[in-house]
Amino acid sequence: MTGVGPVLRFCPESNDLLYPREDKERKKLVYFCRSCQYQEDADPKEWCVYRNEVQHTSREKSVVLQDVRSDPTLPRTRDVRCPECANNEAVFFTSSTEEGMTLYFSCCSCGHRWRDYV
Ligand SMILES: [Zn+2]
Ligand SMILES: [Zn+2]
Repeated sequence: MTGVGPVLRFCPESNDLLYPREDKERKKLVYFCRSCQYQEDADPKEWCVYRNEVQHTSREKSVVLQDVRSDPTLPRTRDVRCPECANNEAVFFTSSTEEGMTLYFSCCSCGHRWRDYV
């Protein structure tokens, strides 16, 4: 693995890829299954470990700058809406910034990039 993004998780019920999403009520990051509504909390420790790992590399910066839409290692979600073109498919990845762990989305259609604070 390259260390970009959290470890992929799969639904124990249906084996589908779980997508990260912000639970706005509880202000927590959760993983959810789009097939059966299974949901689990993201482990904060895991995010800390990840953050420490990438802190001293430049990989994160290059990911933030490069066009990630063609990167097959990055997961995709259809649970978003691009603020630019309203397309609902985006590639997502995480990166540590001065503000903390950040979830980035990159629109598969127009390449617009936006982020969600974790
Ligand atoms: Zn499922
Ligand atoms: Zn777009």
